[in-house]
Amino acid sequence: MSDLRTVRPEIPDFEKYHAGMAIEEIQERYGLGKVIKLASNENPLGTSPVVQQVLKQNAGLAFRYAQAGTPRLHAAIAEHLGLPVSRIVAGNGSDEIIDLLVRIKARPGQDNIIAFDPCFSMYKLQAKLCGVELRQAKLKPDFSFPWDDLLALADENTAICFVTTPDNPSGFTPKASELEALARALPPQCLLVIDEAYMDFAQPLEEYSLLPRLNEFENVAILRTFSKMYGLAGLRLGYGILPEWLADYCLRVKLPFSVNVLAEMAGIAALSDTVYIEATRKVVSEGREQLTRGFQSMGCKVHPSMANFLLIDLPAGASHDAKGLFQALLERGIIIRPLSSYNLPESLRVSVGDASENRALLDVMKEILGS
Ligand SMILES: *Cc1c(COP(=O)(O)O)cnc(C)c1O
Repeated sequence: MSDLRTVRPEIPDFEKYHAGMAIEEIQERYGLGKVIKLASNENPLGTSPVVQQVLKQNAGLAFRYAQAGTPRLHAAIAEHLGLPVSRIVAGNGSDEIIDLLVRIKARPGQDNIIAFDPCFSMYKLQAKLCGVELRQAKLKPDFSFPWDDLLALADENTAICFVTTPDNPSGFTPKASELEALARALPPQCLLVIDEAYMDFAQPLEEYSLLPRLNEFENVAILRTFSKMYGLAGLRLGYGILPEWLADYCLRVKLPFSVNVLAEMAGIAALSDTVYIEATRKVVSEGREQLTRGFQSMGCKVHPSMANFLLIDLPAGASHDAKGLFQALLERGIIIRPLSSYNLPESLRVSVGDASENRALLDVMKEILGS
């Protein structure tokens, strides 16, 4: 029987997305003035002054539609990467590209997608929404990748294999040679999608990314974003570097104006903003060191990370568990990320902030755990 409220069977199971909490939310709830957010891996330097200038100068263009398919942005990205523009598809965050790839490549009720467990929630959500089975291989206890377990899940109906590197939430980053072996071992119809949201923070690139050798792999797609290193999370801009035939399909089915006119201009400006990029690399690598030393001095286990965040476990016998510490920090105006949505209730993820934010977190945490 169907009635007005009949929807596709996948839909009622969905819950609201658990994002990092917003600063305004915490200010209001606890009556706080200053709140530090280290929960969503945003850039600690804020929006680049160069990009702010471009946004101000072009504010008057907000009434215009962007040029469909944002060709100027595609050209700028292609030039930045040294790849043909026919391989680039920009989207409303790389989330949009993930959504497109799942909808284009995986046949509902027939195909499957493989990924590690835990993985970025978007792979799970979009697979579920599309009625596509998701198969997951459990990460090793140290969060490194069990490649053979992942490969064992693949069959003749595996449409996509998602791998995140540097991985979220652990920061683990495998060698490019291991990705190469995976790409060569997957069944021929399976697209390997390497989500490099945090690859801008890993160096040297050729040691960790297949991007410099992408021409050797017909079955590999790479996702990049402007949300992390480039500091544009709120404007929503990401892109896929795809096999040409797939980029063509994406541009045919994608909503034509999902990348807005200001995001396009900001993205073009951000790509050439080398001062901001260098400053970001510096603040993140120094902050990662600062936080690692501080957490370790409190007895926490800190997982090695190439990204702009750290996964930590509290010392055995600590006064608070992960959830309790998260809550206590929140009440003192510091937002970090609990990981129950990743099924890691005993761990916490902390985005690297600037030196004073990191210092504040370490001081407050010491106070909480010492009391
Ligand atoms: C942050 C993140 C993204 C980027 O998302 P946008 O939609 O581009 O903001 C993609 N993948 C992973 C694993 C991420 O953590």
